[in-house]
Formats: sequence, structure tokens, C-alpha cells
Amino acid sequence: MEKCLFCRIIKKEMESHILYEDDDILAFKDVNPQAPVHLLIIPKKHIPGVTELEEEDKELIGKICLVAKRIAREQSVYQCGFRLVVNSGPDAGQAVQHLHFHLLGGRKLGWPPG
Ligand code: 5GP
Ligand code: ZN
Repeated sequence: MEKCLFCRIIKKEMESHILYEDDDILAFKDVNPQAPVHLLIIPKKHIPGVTELEEEDKELIGKICLVAKRIAREQSVYQCGFRLVVNSGPDAGQAVQHLHFHLLGGRKLGWPPG
């Protein structure tokens, strides 16, 4: 069985609440939401994190941002505002080693993050 948690979610070996899917990208609800809207948008390609991104991934990352925009609209946080976050490495608290963009919204978000 696939070791990477998010690859298992992509392969539907693990349950998740999916909100968007295409050939390259999956978006699903975070299991431990930190805001009324908290989704994870991930590439289907297994990329461990930002530090492993290559030139060839440019288009994929652009597509993820456009999916984020579309979902923000669907989730009604487009006008009031939302945050798109990628944690990279231990100091940022990256827990899952499969690149993921957090989309957070639905409440006033503090800055700077803790
Ligand atoms: P990170 O800390 O790596 O940036 O974020 C990992 C995120 O994945 C966390 O917000 C955590 O709640 C979420 N997460 C961890 N395991 C699962 C899971 O099995 N299903 C879902 N939907 N989210 C998960
Ligand atoms: Zn993976």
C-alpha cells in the first residue's frame, strides 16, 4: 500500500471530502479545520514540498492557484478574503510530505501566524 497519506487519498484508499478533482489536482476538506473554510489543494504528482519543485512544475503550480481562486468563489470567501498557505519544513510545521496548499477563510485570520 502507498506510504504517503495524500497519495492514498488521491488513490481513494483513504476517505476524504473531495470538493474538486481533475487529472492533475485534488482539493479536499482538511480533517482538522482551523477556520470555517479549510481545504487542502494538492497536485496528484507526488512532490514532497516546495523545496522539491522543479522548472517543469511551473504550470502545475499555476493551475493550483487558479483552482484555489475557483474554490474560494464556490466557498463564498472570494470577496471577504482568504489565505493560501504552504508550510515548508520543520520550522513551518510541515507535517505531511506531499505538497499541499491550505485554503483558509470564513473568519478574520490573524497575522503574523504563530
Ligand atoms: P501541514 O502541517 O503539513 O502543512 O498540513 C497538513 C494538514 O493535513 C493538516 O492541516 C492536517 O489537519 C491535514 N491532515 C492530516 N491528515 C489528514 C487526513 O487523513 N485527511 C485530511 N483530509 N487531512 C489531513
Ligand atoms: Zn504523495
